[in-house]
Amino acid sequence: MIHSIPFPQINDTVRRALALTAIALLAFLSLSAQEPGVARSLAVTRAIRVSNITYQLNFRIPDNLAQPVTGRLRLSFHLTNTKTDLPLDFAGKDVQHLGHINGKSFKAEWQSEHILLPHQALRRGLNVVDLVFTAADKSLNRHADYLYSLFVPANARTVFPCFDQPDLKALFKCTLQAPDGWVSRCSDSTHVLPTYLFSFVAGKFQTKTVVRDGRHMTALYRETDPAKVAQLDKCFDEAALALRWLERYTARSCPFGDYGFVVLPGYQFGGMEHPGAIQFTDREIFLGPQPTPDEEMTRLQLIAHETAHLWFGDMVTMRWFDDVWTKEVFANFMASKIAREQFPLINHDLNFLKSYYPRAMSTDRTLGTHSIQQPLDNLNRAGLLYGNIIYEKAPIMMDKLEQQMGPDAFREGLRRYLKTFAYANATWNDLVAIFDSVAPQAHVRQFSDVWVREKGVPVISYRLHGDTLTVRQSDPFHRSLFWPQRATYGLLCGDSLIPMTVDFHHSEVHVKVPCHPETIIPNINGQGYGRFIINDSDRQGCAAWMTRHIHDDNTAAYSVLLTLYENYLLCTERQGVSDASTAALFQLLCNSLTQCQGQQTASTLCRNLASLLHLTTDKQQRDSMESRLFALSASHPLKAVRQQLTRSLANVATSKVVTGSLYRKWLCHDDTLLNERDYTRLAYHLALILPDSCLHILATQHQRLKTTDEQREFDFIARACTSDTAAQHRLFLSLIPKSGRLVEPWAESALSLLCDPTRETQANNYLKPALDAIVDIQQTSDIFFPGYWLSALMDDHHSAEARQTVNSWIADHERQKAWQQGLRAALMNKIKENAYWMLFRPAKK
Ligand SMILES: [Zn+2]
Repeated sequence: MIHSIPFPQINDTVRRALALTAIALLAFLSLSAQEPGVARSLAVTRAIRVSNITYQLNFRIPDNLAQPVTGRLRLSFHLTNTKTDLPLDFAGKDVQHLGHINGKSFKAEWQSEHILLPHQALRRGLNVVDLVFTAADKSLNRHADYLYSLFVPANARTVFPCFDQPDLKALFKCTLQAPDGWVSRCSDSTHVLPTYLFSFVAGKFQTKTVVRDGRHMTALYRETDPAKVAQLDKCFDEAALALRWLERYTARSCPFGDYGFVVLPGYQFGGMEHPGAIQFTDREIFLGPQPTPDEEMTRLQLIAHETAHLWFGDMVTMRWFDDVWTKEVFANFMASKIAREQFPLINHDLNFLKSYYPRAMSTDRTLGTHSIQQPLDNLNRAGLLYGNIIYEKAPIMMDKLEQQMGPDAFREGLRRYLKTFAYANATWNDLVAIFDSVAPQAHVRQFSDVWVREKGVPVISYRLHGDTLTVRQSDPFHRSLFWPQRATYGLLCGDSLIPMTVDFHHSEVHVKVPCHPETIIPNINGQGYGRFIINDSDRQGCAAWMTRHIHDDNTAAYSVLLTLYENYLLCTERQGVSDASTAALFQLLCNSLTQCQGQQTASTLCRNLASLLHLTTDKQQRDSMESRLFALSASHPLKAVRQQLTRSLANVATSKVVTGSLYRKWLCHDDTLLNERDYTRLAYHLALILPDSCLHILATQHQRLKTTDEQREFDFIARACTSDTAAQHRLFLSLIPKSGRLVEPWAESALSLLCDPTRETQANNYLKPALDAIVDIQQTSDIFFPGYWLSALMDDHHSAEARQTVNSWIADHERQKAWQQGLRAALMNKIKENAYWMLFRPAKK
């Protein structure tokens, strides 16, 4: 059944009617009535009136950071209607009072983040506007010797006046006047782009250009370590592979010309898909000397993800940011398919499960979850749409949709979609209509109504009565919804495992079973999405079956591992943490890891084992768990396991024995399992645990770092290691205003150290002010930072006092009307999502 259809689901006729009404209304609105940001109503009316846009931009970048970046804009566009004034979006520092429209001067009135172009000066057809302006620094990421612009979702307007909405695509011609010795690169200038995809970068960079498959590829980078720089060749190869794969799959050649990317230190995202000037974080491109298979796979998937955006997002763009997930889902979905080719020896069904299920569930099981498609009334809160639901759950949904339609029909639908909307905009509804026409039997619209427009994940239970297995989905939010999908139950009868597939056309499904099983294993192939309950009578049998089959990367055993872990969490949510059940699961996972030879399964086992350390309240029990993991980190036959366990312990170990061993490891500085980033993280942790040696540890680690970029980062973060609580408090307060968190990953690391579990009493004081600041933080930060801030703040708390503080903060604010809708409701979801672990963790003994 369908609940409320969110506001954005309007068809073109209604949109046009709304637009005409809005145009009529606008005629009566004064400038001051324009709402800051980019309101949907404004975007709808503008998209009807304006077309054929070109921005000619010239920026002057001074070498002194204290001086602002200034610019000149020549904006030309076609206008259909001159009855009302036309707002341009601008939230920069300043605009020169006198501008020109069609060669005649006009007074540029600038209020509420808009410059109003007076209708008397405009004409039907071509208009040319000239403006001189001063940019705000917010989205320019300025450093002493480089800068890069990053405008997603709607921050181009903080740098130059523009129509900052995704469906007013334009040509961008950009020139930069930069200090001597700087190199620069701008995004593609040959095809139309939405403002959020326009970008420029300038500074002291090295450049490397190669040709792959007849195509020029260029990288800009600051890295100086020759071993890391040498990895660029592999990155070019992987980009070329992704391009070839996408050209074949979509039956369209690459939509943009030269392939260029910039590798940035301290970058706030993994990557961003500006055509011709893709941005990547150096952390995921330049791997240390001993990369794990996971790191290699993550790098390929990152490159493939940003490359897939050239088709999905860059060439065909969502009309409004409520559909931003459509570009992200295809980027991730295609990246998974591309990885299948590059790593043929890997079990990709298992890899798909591993890549998406745990992270999707990590949001979907919390009270802060939301639907894949979310309503959006103003682009100034578009950043809050991003998160695990659009990046991780949406590909799972898309996988199920591909199964329902069949892979050939699915690909044919995508090809038609790309052809129909090339270099233009489309909505999810447009794609649903195409999918419905190529595969009417798949009931795509009904599928989408639940999976895309409703929040939550079903809890799926079963019972066996006689020879009938009844499987039931229940809706955690009591709306009587069910999620159309298939799930398979494994029946263990003697030596054989009989798969029984249930097809959810209703919330409850009955199937006849051919034998009376000793054990029933829910979701045996991992194809179902839900919280699959294992009955008490089957728990031992499921655990034993998993232990027998987990020696290599076996999809079924991996799926049982996920289900057992989810059942542990379900039980903990309902009954509170029990040290006995944590110890039992720890034991089971340790035994499984000891036997496991599969890299992918082992990596999830390591992650789950580390998470259980946090959920243990008994100090003695925790110490012995740490020792067991430390022993495994020395003895396990898989190098990746030894490495991952060492890295985990380097961040969290507190027992005397293990921290002592880690300290000796850090002093020796010759363990080939660890790279310099690992040693740096270990140094931060040891400096907290061993306050007497803090100064020595930090000074030594600083000396080990080779580049000034690394040292700058270290000096910023290492301040959080001080044992002086007054200095800790001052540092915490300095992170709240925008000026204290200009490089967001550094601020996140510093906050995380300030909130380390070893400093819980002091860290409890940060909870309220850090939550109070969240609205301002959202408004002044990049899109992922509010979530990172909340996670750094709350992940490590154990005390009843912390739980009480956060619970009452949530209760106080939820009572206020302002927090029940729009921006603040979305922020409340982020808070609840990140408070998940804290809210059911018991007080430390
Ligand atoms: Zn993306």
